[in-house]
Amino acid sequence: MRKKTQLIHGGISNDPQTGAVSFPIYQVSTYKQDGVGNFKGYEYSRTGNPTRNALEELIKDLEGGKAGFAFGSGMAAITAVMMLFNSGDHIIMTDDVYGGTYRVMSKVLNRVGISSTFVDTSDPANIEKEIRSNTKAVYIETPTNPLLKVTDVEAAAKIAKAHNLLTIVDNTFSTPYWQNPIDNGADIVLHSATKYLGGHSDVVAGLVVVNSEQLAQDLHFVQNSTGGVLGPQDSWLLIRGIKTLGVRMEEHEANTAQIIEFLKDHPAVEKIYYPGLPTHPNHEIAKKQGRGFGGMISFDVGSQDNADKLLSKTKYFTLAESLGAVESLISVPARMTHASIPAERRAELGITDGLVRISVGLEDVEDLIEDLKQALEK
Ligand SMILES: *Cc1c(COP(=O)(O)O)cnc(C)c1O
Repeated sequence: MRKKTQLIHGGISNDPQTGAVSFPIYQVSTYKQDGVGNFKGYEYSRTGNPTRNALEELIKDLEGGKAGFAFGSGMAAITAVMMLFNSGDHIIMTDDVYGGTYRVMSKVLNRVGISSTFVDTSDPANIEKEIRSNTKAVYIETPTNPLLKVTDVEAAAKIAKAHNLLTIVDNTFSTPYWQNPIDNGADIVLHSATKYLGGHSDVVAGLVVVNSEQLAQDLHFVQNSTGGVLGPQDSWLLIRGIKTLGVRMEEHEANTAQIIEFLKDHPAVEKIYYPGLPTHPNHEIAKKQGRGFGGMISFDVGSQDNADKLLSKTKYFTLAESLGAVESLISVPARMTHASIPAERRAELGITDGLVRISVGLEDVEDLIEDLKQALEK
């Protein structure tokens, strides 16, 4: 099955009870048992719900893993994955991970004894240097947010395997339409489904796919024990969103390519971060491990003042956190998504006050370019 077909026919694409081609919303908490312990696969909706299950089967198929899991947010998904580890364990992570991921590792999970070291994984040799006797996993985000750094998943997973570590990949920016980290050796792939998978700015959700029966059992145990599950209504919204992921990603990509062409020659734009640019330091790896480069662009306009002027003038780029939806969004990571990262750490990473991030939407690209043009004018 090819990708666009799989988005529509993967998982459980219609209801076995009624034949309904849109999988129904099973808005239910508990299920009748014919005798004690004798039930039709579902006993309580924290443990399992048919609509959530349909979504979990779909994401499993899309990522090519053994089992899928749906959570109430991307952060709930990441936290559940971290609950596979024990107090005393150590994780090596990409240095410019999503701000919330940095926060949960450095301010929450550290309190229960799960420690982390942040390194630039775009050079996989940096991973090897940080491996300790208690290191249990390598956690990669690729491409990263907001600097669009790319890590070679195959190279990183090779190092991880040699040391008996799990490889975990946050695949939010690429989506399974462009990139399948399990094919490159990852053990666990996760998503903030709030972004491209949902695609319409109307649902907050997280998805995880694991690539072994053991991890499937362990993560189901964590999911059922800690309970951060996604509700049936939101599961249905995601199934609906995912059906059009292919056409949306193709269109995001095409619009982004044209906007890059415009920004490249603009005098107000000092630096562009986009893995599709041949000048991007990891361009070749991005080309090798993905089928597309995505719809996220970051660029530097030199100062907070310039960034504020740009933000105040755009009409179609809405000032908002988040990304990956039909509407174009614009943000300043230093003061928004990455505000939870200390200022000195941000400076080290290159997340300057003049850095602007755009999520290219599905409007007519001519409108988007005209909008940026008038907003960038002095
Ligand atoms: C948004 C995001 C998250 C967190 O997901 P939520 O759904 O907001 O909890 C994690 N990773 C990346 C790359 C993100 O963009």
